[in-house]
Amino acid sequence: MNKLKRYCYGPFPSRRLGLSLGIDILPKSKLCTYNCVYCEIGQTQPINLVSPEHRIHAPPSQNLRKELTSYIKYISKLDSITFGYNGEPTLNENMLDFLNIATEIRDEKSWLNNKPRFTLFTNSSTLYSQEIRDRVKKFELILAKLDVANDDDFKRTNRPHKTAPNIETIIENLAKLKKEMSTEHKLAIQCLIFNSNKKEFISNNTPKNINDLAYALKKIKPDIVQVYSIARMPANYFVFSIDDKRKQEIVNIFRDVIKDNDVYVRYY
Ligand code: SF4
Repeated sequence: MNKLKRYCYGPFPSRRLGLSLGIDILPKSKLCTYNCVYCEIGQTQPINLVSPEHRIHAPPSQNLRKELTSYIKYISKLDSITFGYNGEPTLNENMLDFLNIATEIRDEKSWLNNKPRFTLFTNSSTLYSQEIRDRVKKFELILAKLDVANDDDFKRTNRPHKTAPNIETIIENLAKLKKEMSTEHKLAIQCLIFNSNKKEFISNNTPKNINDLAYALKKIKPDIVQVYSIARMPANYFVFSIDDKRKQEIVNIFRDVIKDNDVYVRYY
């Protein structure tokens, strides 16, 4: 493996983040508390499907500093430095060591416009832990997953580890996180809605789930809600993307229920 490519990937243009440089803080094999049917990095193998209590100790090596410096040397404009690729990043108890090094490197450079912000992807399963919420809150933008709002849909869609909290606990802790966050930092809830072409597999694109989700979002009061769908090869062949017309309908349902202009809802 090229040592200069251990942690960083991209930068890639992203519809939701602008130009984004990724940082992967997990081992090379996927490690996650979920095995989502639509996961674009493939199935979570049973050995890598772990409890939200599971922690790995994987501090950054000296290569992170070298690699990130060499990546951003040639970039004058970047919108986001984004943590999360190969599973659930909050499982690495050294997450903030990565953030501290990346912050030093970002702040040493003079940027053409604004500095890129630090973004974290999380699947929300570990947020019941105060320690994890305290780490997550250090990111300027948190993109937290919530595609379902009842336990039947949760089990079918996200196929969580057996020790994962139930969906009500996840929703409560997303609301708690939002209340604890500084007003300068933003919480975006990502809702990936998909269809199924397998008769016996019910997708999360049902009136019940969309309605339950709308009420969960009203409770969480995030800054942003992002409705989107499958854009790459999913882990299971029988799920596929919803179209833009349906995304707009879902946005309208969410807006009607949330009734709060401070919550910005749109589809991608
Ligand atoms: S939470 Fe993310 S990484 Fe984990 S299985 Fe789901 S889509 Fe894949």
